Amino acid sequence: MQLATKPGPELTRELADIEARYIARHPMSARRQCEAARHMPGGNTRTVLHYSPFPLVWASAKGNRLTDIDGLDYLDLLGDFSAGLYGHSNPVVLAAIKKALDDGIVLGGPNQYEARLAAAIRARFSSLELVRFTNSGTEANLMALSTARALKPDRAHVMVFDGGYHGGVFHFSHGSSALNAPFRWLIGQYNDVDGTRALLRAHAGEIAAVLVEPMLGAGGCIPGTREFLGMLREECARSDVLLIFDEVMTSRLSSSGLQGPLGIQPDMTTLGKYLGGGASFGAFGGRREIMAHFDPSRPGSFEHAGTFNNNVLSMAGGLAGLTEVFTPTEAVRINALGDELRRRLNELARERGAPFQATGVGSLIGLHFTGEEIRRPSDASPKNAASKDAQLAMQALFHLEMLERGYYLARRGYLALSLPTTQDECLGFATAVDEFLAKRRPLLERTLGSCRAS
Ligand code: PMP
Repeated sequence: MQLATKPGPELTRELADIEARYIARHPMSARRQCEAARHMPGGNTRTVLHYSPFPLVWASAKGNRLTDIDGLDYLDLLGDFSAGLYGHSNPVVLAAIKKALDDGIVLGGPNQYEARLAAAIRARFSSLELVRFTNSGTEANLMALSTARALKPDRAHVMVFDGGYHGGVFHFSHGSSALNAPFRWLIGQYNDVDGTRALLRAHAGEIAAVLVEPMLGAGGCIPGTREFLGMLREECARSDVLLIFDEVMTSRLSSSGLQGPLGIQPDMTTLGKYLGGGASFGAFGGRREIMAHFDPSRPGSFEHAGTFNNNVLSMAGGLAGLTEVFTPTEAVRINALGDELRRRLNELARERGAPFQATGVGSLIGLHFTGEEIRRPSDASPKNAASKDAQLAMQALFHLEMLERGYYLARRGYLALSLPTTQDECLGFATAVDEFLAKRRPLLERTLGSCRAS
């Protein structure tokens, strides 16, 4: 079949119509965008929050409902890109943060929370024999990589994977981004067992660390296979390379992240997102002999300052959330809900024969307009630029229609279910997706082809 090589007149018209309705429905968000652009480049201070024609601006939120500054309500299916696991007003987390606020916020010394949060994290992740806190996942990865380089000064390279994301200065969506921190990167192909093994062996002796997400998050919620991640564990041990699991996004996928269910012990792990209870957070940790280098009472220890490393809001909110709210039982419940939603979405796409699929693990879901099997990000994206444009236009149409129907998710097609989410809400969303696919069936086929996988 001859596929459209660009969005085509029908998709272009639909997109223009829905954008016009969006602009008309959100005059206050539009105005804020113009104002904000006078002070911040593009009115933006967090790139991922930008989408066309302009992003919705939030006024308030409760549970898993968001209200924008035009007074419209949405079901929050994005959960702040997975940091909002607890929802917006969990009473236990809020009470802990309020107490911390009342007790004084910039204490400038150890407080009563940080060691307890460290203990709670260690109880969940057995590979984290010792842990330290940072203010973001980016910083956690920077510290983990700097640690690896410091421990192996004659090895300059770090292996990462195409499509990987480890923070604003560790971004590998199309090779290495211009802003990446100046490590020497060796970029492998995700889930490519033989190719990666060969690359690792060819460069054995030059690589200090392998940094990998056990499921590509920003890269499209693409799970690493057991075979791939197991091979990394084996090869790293063989060549004395530190294996670092970036579980900033995936730590919520069971009570022990993905490393627990996979039964793989990395040398180091980085964490972030919801573990600060909704406040800024990052952590890195791992084997005792590695982390012991940070013990300040040891001569020649590594220094890791950071004014807000143990800030009481993140420490108190994180501790309450992890120990009282995100219990192992809740981890099972929310991830089963996500599994069920993904299964339902894939079933609907199959029934419609639509080039659409949901990927991911548990409560983290990626939505893709392709019927091809996705093992790495390049599988999800058409090979030629014109078809890519058509896919991007379809994603934009889908996103704006879901917003119109009251569902908030990321433009790239990403959902992170928060704990208040119910089964009925998931079913409602699945019905909305089904209606989109049913209405666009011929357009989808002309633009992107029919479903080939599954
Ligand atoms: N690693 C992964 C896997 C992430 O998904 C993210 C954030 N999306 C980061 C690191 C960076 O975390 P932060 O935004 O807190 O710097």
